Formats: sequence, structure tokens, C-alpha cells
Amino acid sequence: MSAEAADPGAPLRRRSRPRIDLRRLGRVALRGPVSRDRLPDAIGHVAEAHRAHHPDADLTILHRAYVLAESSHRGQMRKSGEPYITHPLAVTLILAELGAETTTLTASLLHDTVEDTEVTLDQVKEQFGDEVCYLVDGVTKLEKVDYGAAAEPETFRKMLVATGNDVRVMSIKLADRLHNMRTLGVMRPEKQARIAKVTRDVLIPLAERLGVQALKTELEDLVFAILHPEEYEETRALIAAATGPDDPLETIAGNVTHTLRDAGISAEVLIRPRHFVSVHRVRRKRGELRGTDFGRLLVLVAQDADCYAVLGELHTCFTPVISEFKDFIAAPKFNLYQSLHTAVVGPEGAVAEVLIRTHRMHKVAEAGVVALGNPYAQDHASAPQTEPSDERADPTRPGWLSRLLDWQESATDPDTFWTTLRDDLAQDREITVFRTDGGTLGLPAGASCVDAAYAQYGDRAHTAIGARVNGRLATLSTVLSDGDTVQPLLAQDTASGPSPDWLDHVRTPAARIAITGWLTDHPDEAKPDPETVEAAGPGTQGEPADAPAPSEREAPGATAPPRTRSGPRTTGVVVEGPGAPVRLAGCCTPVPPDELTGFVVRGGAVTVHRRECSAAAEMRDIGRAPVGARWADAGGRESEAGCRVTLVAESFGRPRLLADLTEAIATAEAAIVSATVEPPSEQRVRHTYTLQLPDAAGLPGLMRAMRDVAGVYDVSRAQHPAPTG
Ligand code: MN
Repeated sequence: MSAEAADPGAPLRRRSRPRIDLRRLGRVALRGPVSRDRLPDAIGHVAEAHRAHHPDADLTILHRAYVLAESSHRGQMRKSGEPYITHPLAVTLILAELGAETTTLTASLLHDTVEDTEVTLDQVKEQFGDEVCYLVDGVTKLEKVDYGAAAEPETFRKMLVATGNDVRVMSIKLADRLHNMRTLGVMRPEKQARIAKVTRDVLIPLAERLGVQALKTELEDLVFAILHPEEYEETRALIAAATGPDDPLETIAGNVTHTLRDAGISAEVLIRPRHFVSVHRVRRKRGELRGTDFGRLLVLVAQDADCYAVLGELHTCFTPVISEFKDFIAAPKFNLYQSLHTAVVGPEGAVAEVLIRTHRMHKVAEAGVVALGNPYAQDHASAPQTEPSDERADPTRPGWLSRLLDWQESATDPDTFWTTLRDDLAQDREITVFRTDGGTLGLPAGASCVDAAYAQYGDRAHTAIGARVNGRLATLSTVLSDGDTVQPLLAQDTASGPSPDWLDHVRTPAARIAITGWLTDHPDEAKPDPETVEAAGPGTQGEPADAPAPSEREAPGATAPPRTRSGPRTTGVVVEGPGAPVRLAGCCTPVPPDELTGFVVRGGAVTVHRRECSAAAEMRDIGRAPVGARWADAGGRESEAGCRVTLVAESFGRPRLLADLTEAIATAEAAIVSATVEPPSEQRVRHTYTLQLPDAAGLPGLMRAMRDVAGVYDVSRAQHPAPTG
């Protein structure tokens, strides 16, 4: 594949002026052979781009860096046959276009000299100072990572240490990778694929994290072309076919311009084409593409307040799609991104997505941390102490990066570190949840109450037993949504520790590392006790968000003591022997008039199972002596505490199934203690509910009502505890 075939540029619809067209500028700068005669011209493009962002910049240091880089790389060729200097020049131009400051550009020009030429770090330090030297050294270390075993945990740790102290190292690295990806066509296909995969797995997530949208989108398209050539070609053809004189977005953009002008709001309305990967994603999501799906409207204004004025006009004069509205100005994303997002209905029902932001927000959206300047320009020592959850405290050292560095210190095992890091990078968005003390926590999407507990309390979260989410008691496994208020509940008993099950529910490396560390240090206590399976059973699984909240429900953490109702009176069970506490087994949840069998467990309590329970059979098989057990009354009706039962509903998946099932349960006056919904397989879903009924006599009626729910084809008593993963 040639470099041109992998080129997502040659844009068909790139009409949005503020969009930084890195490719075009890259080509302009490098047109023709670079020789000594062309020297002023070659660095001239960089200087021009730099001056556009920083009118007062001192360009002499750039010239000096160029002269050293050019002379030391002289005679070296890239695989394409071009002089080597074209590479650092192109990388520097990318950064200059994004608005990087002079020190970054200087280091970028020199970024390959120490590795590939006679130039030494000491020389760089002598001629360009400590900062440039530090950046060049960092990039040199990163360079070694790339084309070796990129995913090697130990190497990656080193890479983070190198970059962690200064985000500008990563900026240079990303621009370096972009230029290498653009010119990948000269490599063997296997090598192209390998480099593209590393780019996809490591560099693109980093670009996303650093908020460098311009680099991220181009890298995505380059990777797409290499790893999915057919789909890339299909997408290219779709975009070409959709490009015509009567673009529905043009019509809507025209209407929006008039509307805003009439309202006296000064704004620039542009059409911003989606990049190839974005078009492909929309197509995958919606099946068919409409003319308005190939781009989005971008409205640029001067002041923050103008953004809301524009929004008001759009929502008044057009039909808005309210579900598409998102306010990333009031609650910026973790990577500094700010914008209002909405969508309006245009002619013939076509929906156009609209982004509203100030010029400054636009620059940050495109260039992220690259545009934020020199971290040493401000006095950091005098900066006020900021909350660790405040991602925007220090833009050059964002919170997630600080966390990465903390993890790499606390995770002594490289594999754990690598796994958690990769998981963290794979998450494409974060949510913000509110603490009850007024603070906020930034968590990855899919994070649970376990994550929130560790984020808020650190290792003290080992004793977590549950949480309140929006005021309601919830299990630790409950997945949090953006905007939830969460209050983790800790046990007073500091001796208890996390359950291995918690690892199924964590998304944050900090929680994963803390739990893994505790379990490693306490190998005996981590073993689940087969008799207390109730505690590690369905209660630790996800609960349906729309399940009715039983008022008496405990907050069952996985390590919370099993919900024993000790003594024959409350369980309604009589066992042989002296007054040992009795608990009903969670695996088979016996209810009258089931035949019973008991086993003495640790601490002298007796756990009572249904006689046909397979867990009971196993215990008999391994030689455990059964203890006689029977229901207290002849009728076996447990009058005081009601009865607890686990039911499995097998259904065909459909919308609202969960809501209808929980409604049927609530109508039968049963309380949901816990619930598990397994991922659908071939259209079938299995829901497991542990329910508290006021009376065992109500069980047949409840099971009938659940079977009557549309789509449900079987409801049965559980023979086994719900899977805990
Ligand atoms: Mn390089």
C-alpha cells in the first residue's frame, strides 16, 4: 500500500476553515528536496506557523536547532529516500500548527539527534538548556519503545516515567508517530499492521487523553486504512458519493446563520466534515447514512455566554433533539474538552448535530495539551493545593497522568500494571459523580460503587459494604451513571477486607491494584466459604437500576456478613443438637415445604440446604456429616420473617423486559434482595432474582405472574447460586 492510499487527507469536504489541516501543511513544507540552499525555506514554514500562534516568539533558537539537526542528520535517508531531516521538520511543523511553544518545537527538531547521530545529550544541554535536553531525552527513551515490543510491560512503565514528568514529551511523541504513520506506505505490510496496532492500542488513547483531537482523528483514519482496507474504501466511496451541490448541511447551516444574525449574535457557522472513522461509526450505529450524517455544524463565538445564547436561539427556532443535548462547558470532559452539543431537525426531517464553542475552546479541542504552553512559565510552587479529583488543576500534568504514575509506583507486578493501564486506556470516556460532601469524582464509564469507594477513601475502602446512590441503598457492584450522587458505606469493623468478586466490578486501576494487593497479602481470608455462599451470591451482582428499592434492604457488600437469621425461631427451621445458630443456604434458598439437610460450618453454625441441593450433595460426598433439619411447623409456613427464594427467569430479550419483570415481582409483594442479568446469548436472557416474600404460600402465584410476562418462557427455583464470575 502506498502512503497516498493510506491518506485520509485529500479531503473531499474539508470546508471548515479553523480545522487544522496538518497534511496539507506537511506537504507544503516538504515539497522538493531539502538541501542547504533550501534551508531558510524549510524552517521558514515552521517559523511562520509558530508566529501565527505566538507573535512574539524568539525564532533564533529554532534556527539554531534546525542547523544542528540538519547538519547532524546529513547523509541519512528515510526509507522513502527523502533526506532524514524531513522527518523532524514535519514533526515540528505539526506541533507548530497546533500552537506548541518554542521549547517544544526546539526539542522536536532535535528529537532524533541523540539516538541517531553523533550529537550527545550534553551537547544539547550546553547549547539549548536543561529543558530542551530533558524533552529530547524523554523522546529518545520513548523512541526505543515503539519499534521494539511495544506492549512489553516493563518498557511501557519506563515510557510512562519518561513522559510523566512532562506532558510535552508525549506531545512530541504523538506528532512523531503521526508523521511516521503518514509515511508508513514504504514499509512491508506486516510491519505496517504491527505499527498500526500499537498506534491503535497506545498512541490513539493517549492522544484522546491529552485532548489532541487533530492528531487523534488523523491517526484513527491512518490506522483504519491499514487495518481495515475494505471498509476504508467503502467509507471513502460513501463520502465521495455524498459530496454534491445540494448538501442538506449547507441548507441548515444557512438557516442557522440567518437565525443567529437576526438575533444579533455574532457567530461563525461552519460545516465540519466527520473523519472517515467517524462516518464509519455512524454508519455502523444507524445502518444507513443520511446527507446530514457526513458532517456536523460548528458554531464559533467569542464568549462562553454566547454559547448558551446560540443554544437558546437554536432550540427556539428549530426543533431540537433534546436527547442529543450535552453541556461540556459546565462539566468539561477529563481531557479539557469544552463544547455544547445539540442536534436540530432540518428540512425533510434530517437531523444535524451541532457543536457550539468559543474560539478558545476550539483551539483546546483541536490541540489539547499541546496548545497549553510551557508548564514552567507559571509558578507551580505557589499554586494552591488542589483536590486530586480536579482533572484541570494542572493541564500539563492531568489527573489521570498523576494517577498512572502513582499506580506504577504501587503496582509492583508489571503484568498487573500493564493490564490495568491497558484497560484504562481502552476507556473512551469518563463520568462525573457527586460526593455527598460536595466534591466530585471523575471515573471511567462503567465504574461501580467499588471504584467510587476506592477513589474517595483509598485503602479504607477495603471495608466497604455498600453505597447510597442518589439516596437509595445499592450494592457495591452497582454501575454508576454520569451525574449520580454516591456515598460509599464503610463497615466500622476494620478487620474485614475486599472480596475477590469485587474485581469483576472495578474499572479503575487504583481500585484493582488496591484489591489485588490486599488479597495477595491475605491469602487465607480471601477464600470464599462454600457455606456462606449467600454473601458471595446474587447479592454481589448488578442490580437492575429500575428495580424497586425494598425499604428494609441491606446494602449487601460481598464481604458483608451473610444475612443470617440465626436461631430456629427466625428461620423457622429446627435442627438436631444444642442451640446452634441456623442459617439458610444461599445456593438453594430453601422455603417450606422443601425437604432439608444441614451441615455444621465454621463457628458452629448450621447451614440448611434443600435436600436435593447439589452443594449439599458435594458436602456429603467429601464426607461432611449431615445434620437433621426440618421446618418448625407441620405446615412449614414461616410466619415471622417471610421467606427468601432465588428464582431464574428465562426469557427472549426485548425492550422493557426488566421493567415488566420487576413490576410483576413488586405486584406480588415480593422485595428484590438482589438480581443478576446475564448478558444475552442468542436473543435469550437469564435473570436471577433473590426475593423476599411475605409468605411462602405466595410463591406459586409469583412464579405464574412472572411466567405471564411477555417473552418469559420459564421461571424456576435456582439450584445453584447465581454465577459470580
Ligand atoms: Mn522521530
